[in-house]
Amino acid sequence: MGVASLSSAVVTSDATSAEPQASTPGVGSGGETVVMKFGGTSVAGPEDLKRAAARIVAERDRGNKVVAVLSARGKTTDELLTMASEISDRPSPREMDMLLSTGERISCALCAMAIWDLGHQAISLTGSQAGIVTDSSHTKARIVDVRAGRIEQALEQDNIVLVAGFQGVSTDSKDVTTLGRGGSDTTAVALAAALGASVCEIYTDVAGVFSADPRLVSDARKLETVSFEEMLEMSASGAGVLQLRSVEYARNHGVRIHCRSSFEQGTGTLVVAEDETLENPFVTAVTHSAEEARVTLAGVRNEPGMAGRIFTALAEANVNVDVIIQNEPVSTEHGADLSFTVARDDLDTAVGAIEGENGMSSGEILTDVQIGKVSIVGAGMRSHPGVAAKVFKVLGDEGINIEMISTSPIKISCVIAADRVDDAVRALHTAFELGADAVHEEDSTGEHKARALGR
Ligand code: ASP
Ligand code: MG
Repeated sequence: MGVASLSSAVVTSDATSAEPQASTPGVGSGGETVVMKFGGTSVAGPEDLKRAAARIVAERDRGNKVVAVLSARGKTTDELLTMASEISDRPSPREMDMLLSTGERISCALCAMAIWDLGHQAISLTGSQAGIVTDSSHTKARIVDVRAGRIEQALEQDNIVLVAGFQGVSTDSKDVTTLGRGGSDTTAVALAAALGASVCEIYTDVAGVFSADPRLVSDARKLETVSFEEMLEMSASGAGVLQLRSVEYARNHGVRIHCRSSFEQGTGTLVVAEDETLENPFVTAVTHSAEEARVTLAGVRNEPGMAGRIFTALAEANVNVDVIIQNEPVSTEHGADLSFTVARDDLDTAVGAIEGENGMSSGEILTDVQIGKVSIVGAGMRSHPGVAAKVFKVLGDEGINIEMISTSPIKISCVIAADRVDDAVRALHTAFELGADAVHEEDSTGEHKARALGR
């Protein structure tokens, strides 16, 4: 089976690595095209950058063609954003992209220098030179095409190719665009798809995808495999390890992602199609986010078209809405109360967009920034009743009030007070037995599931 052979290939090259240079677990078995992405902390200081260069070269030495996608070093993107805010309150989006795209270029040029010093040919390319074609929505562009000809040519000429992540070029305006925070993940997945790479390796500062944030939960478990669907829900509900769009792209193009540490050896987490996952516990992970805000519209007129107007205004302002709750009003005069959550960064834009719509409601617009969200995700919960009941009971026993609830077939999210998020994550992680010593594998009897559900 695909996953099994992939992981055994990784283990084999690990075990056979004798020389220091080759001590990194291998990716391709030789003669393959490999895409390796390094995040900001993995290229932060000179030593980090040289470590990444050495890993890239080791992969080339295994006989593979290597394309490496790099993020901006350390906090560079944040610093560029600060620079812009020191100059202008409303920087031009086009110029913002010119500015932000420089961070990734620095990483690539420096890494190419390090690779030359290690005795290999390397060439760095901007997103535009690499053929990453996007739409023209500056600072949040979407990749519409990958024209990988120049990369393929450079690989043929025996180069290691370094591609600046997070950026592209718009087809119509020919301007530089960026892909939104965390966008280098999407660059890497898109290149892996275009080049037919067997896997997209994402090197980061954690060992993989965990059953909960390891900074919060000491016995959080590194997951061997996660399905695309689960990873989508996890990225959307606060797991910061992969950009949501990169997971979407990977699912749509069937690109396996291997998320692993650039500081340690060993395999990380594979994100693959559901029928390839090794285990299928009914709950896989607890995720959380403390970066939410809620907007409540009181007294919304109780007639057709109101919700359509409100959410069209939000969509046009490019605000992503998460949990939505509306109740049928107690009486017609009263109007409906409508609440929804957005990313805290989007709160002002959201309120501005709604204020622009007149005559929809009699009441005021209330906002709350002291909210957070805890979610549990697991492909197995589709077929196991009682998961929601257990989540609510666990939170209730902790004295945590649930303010809003939303579900998908494989996710349950609860909006709660921001200052109770940490407690909620720990309580759920324990109650669903997700910890490192929990036994999930070879659970054909379903006994574990029954036990964790408290039956
Ligand atoms: N440097 C960009 C960011 O910080 C893109 C990335 O790292 O993926 O969001
Ligand atoms: Mg990232």
